[in-house]
Amino acid sequence: HANGVRALVVPSTGVTDYAKVCEKYAELISSRGGTVRTSTVATGIRRLANEIVVETSQGAFSAGALINCAGLFSDRISRMAGDDPGVMIVPFRGEYYDLTPERASLVRALIYPVPDPRFPFLGVHFTRRVTGKVDAGPNAVFALAREGYRHSDISVRDLAASLAFPGFWRMARQHWRNGIEEYRRSLSKPMFVRALQRLLPEIGEGDLIPGGSGVRAQAVRPDGTLVDDFQFVASGKVLHVLNVPSPAATASLVIGKTIVQMAADSLELS
Ligand SMILES: Cc1cc2nc3c(=O)[nH]c(=O)nc-3n(C[C@H](O)[C@H](O)[C@H](O)COP(=O)(O)OP(=O)(O)OC[C@H]3O[C@@H](n4cnc5c(N)ncnc54)[C@H](O)[C@@H]3O)c2cc1C
Repeated sequence: HANGVRALVVPSTGVTDYAKVCEKYAELISSRGGTVRTSTVATGIRRLANEIVVETSQGAFSAGALINCAGLFSDRISRMAGDDPGVMIVPFRGEYYDLTPERASLVRALIYPVPDPRFPFLGVHFTRRVTGKVDAGPNAVFALAREGYRHSDISVRDLAASLAFPGFWRMARQHWRNGIEEYRRSLSKPMFVRALQRLLPEIGEGDLIPGGSGVRAQAVRPDGTLVDDFQFVASGKVLHVLNVPSPAATASLVIGKTIVQMAADSLELS
């Protein structure tokens, strides 16, 4: 059913249940003596002569070195540690529709568009999940809160931080046309469907029901350019991981190994 001129076979990619992957990671960390602390918000970082103390909502923890992988908040954590991240995290919500169960059979694999190298976002596509459910999306709309999973989620602090950042306005000047298109697609189901029909001409409005959403942590430089690769900043015994674009979940094992190697080199860990 897919429309296209050519297709690529990527034998190394896959679809998985990512919650299960995370559970497995947590199990492996615990079995090797580590501890995963959920619902523990880092609120402050103190750098002492021989240790780094992280203040959290569950008390203080000290360590010889620190790796900051805080996603949407990684720039704030970096400033908390007294470092200049050199970028601002700007949140972009990605909204999905789901195919109705009756029409899920239209999609048997991953149907992606050819990426436009001028933008870090791929554009709407179809993902068949391990359960057989099919996601259609995501778009990319500027979110009014870092954890802005819905239109109604607004954080004055997050919004003020984005608007006070000169890079935000430079980015807006470069990409305003695209930004408006994305907003229109977000508010208008027919427009969203038209974007999907480029890949799957048979799809209609009645085949789609509202799905979930996610928020991308997009690092933006002061000159308004969007960081489209990984961005790391090492400072003393702290390594900040500041931009972690898709498919970082799929590639998490390799990325994890790379970060550990980088930490071993730059943080002088044995
Ligand atoms: C809509 C959407 C679709 C995507 N699709 C794919 C895909 O198909 N395949 C793929 O490979 N990737 C995909 N990605 C990208 C992938 O989700 C990210 O690359 C990946 O999650 C980045 O991992 P991370 O560990 O750096 O950050 P995150 O996964 O964002 O984790 C950061 C963690 O830090 C925690 N944190 C933040 N602040 C604090 C604090 N102050 N104290 C304590 N903890 C804190 C957060 O709670 C969170 O658990 C998608 C992303 C989005 C938004």
